[in-house]
Amino acid sequence: MTKDYSRYPDQHPDSTGHFGAYGGSYIPPELQQEMDKITDAYLTISKTHRFIEELRSIRTHYQGRPTPIYHADRLSKMCGGSQIYLKREDLNHTGAHKLNHCMGEGLLAKYMGKKKLIAETGAGQHGVALATAAAYFGLECEIHMGEVDIIKEAPNVIRMKLLGATVVPVSFGLRTLKEAVDSAFQAYLKDPVNSIYCIGSVVGPHPFPMMVRDFQAIVGIESRAQFLEMTGSLPDVVCACVGGGSNAMGIFSGFINDPVKLIGVEPGGRSLNLGDHAATATFGRPGIIHGFKCYLLQDEKGEPAPVYSIASGLDYPGVGPEHSLLKDEGRISYEIADDVETLDAFYTLSSVEGIIPALESAHAVAYCMKYAKEMKHGSILINLSGRGDKDLGFVTENYGFNIDEAKKSMA
Ligand SMILES: *Cc1c(COP(=O)(O)O)cnc(C)c1O
Repeated sequence: MTKDYSRYPDQHPDSTGHFGAYGGSYIPPELQQEMDKITDAYLTISKTHRFIEELRSIRTHYQGRPTPIYHADRLSKMCGGSQIYLKREDLNHTGAHKLNHCMGEGLLAKYMGKKKLIAETGAGQHGVALATAAAYFGLECEIHMGEVDIIKEAPNVIRMKLLGATVVPVSFGLRTLKEAVDSAFQAYLKDPVNSIYCIGSVVGPHPFPMMVRDFQAIVGIESRAQFLEMTGSLPDVVCACVGGGSNAMGIFSGFINDPVKLIGVEPGGRSLNLGDHAATATFGRPGIIHGFKCYLLQDEKGEPAPVYSIASGLDYPGVGPEHSLLKDEGRISYEIADDVETLDAFYTLSSVEGIIPALESAHAVAYCMKYAKEMKHGSILINLSGRGDKDLGFVTENYGFNIDEAKKSMA
């Protein structure tokens, strides 16, 4: 790391919502007006003593924070190289990191006098987290979800309904995350006065990439202090899976100005042909999607390309604007884990450590299992973004109970 990042957090994004050439807001004027109101509200309300204290209390008493860091001793020995540590976001209430920004967004909605939260969801984790926040704050909740994901992530659909949310099936296009975002935007534009749109990652027009990163930064703040206390030094590597990039930005932000290597792991899917993966930062080129500029997987016409990942939460053709900038600057490296490696990590972490990871998080574990061996020494901290309960049926019905069965089923 050669550049000085000490003033980076204050300077990014700039006042127009840009991270270098990325981010910004490419949206119709009526939506821009609403985004400006959310930006103003966020920049004033979220800095008040009352807001900060209320969020802190929620984190402690409702979410169960801080989540622990765990030294995965058996996994480390098995890999035979660096020591692997897990930041246990799977133990955050609702089972994933997403509640960190949903409680922040819900609290902001409450202070703004909104009545309804609207959002999209892919794996269902953002929908569950937002429905949870809506229940907590006594707000209505409307979740848009692709029909493909509704089938694949059935337990989360049941949870959202129990939590009192309305789940709107999205039946156009590939019927997954990208279409769900389009559908949620349309619904929000119909009633922006009473409702607020709550995006599920560090994506979308300004102020969302900034706001979601700031609410997720708790993961990085806790991790840095916990790791120092536990080991007496900083980790050599911090690693996280990247879909839109919120769990990664959350933990990375705590180490941005440290001599720590930051690695984002993207889904390599079933092959590296366009349409078979969602490795956006690796194979994309700058483009615009959902109102912001970022690395984007594009077809020959420059439209967002179809994407695929075994993990519903990672199959997005764009990536956060801050990731796009930090990739260009070389501050974050992007690597790939494919479906087979991911399944192997899913089974391995389950049987070796007794921790069943979300398929999304298993991408980061998969890459680190390889990288630990290569690195030989030192320490790796993985953001274990969520637990795998939601994936149990899908994995065991399609791939069986271990990697040999899985390979057979894919042959
Ligand atoms: C949604 C999700 C992700 C991907 O989202 P990011 O914004 O890239 O963090 C990763 N892990 C889990 C468990 C998720 O639910």
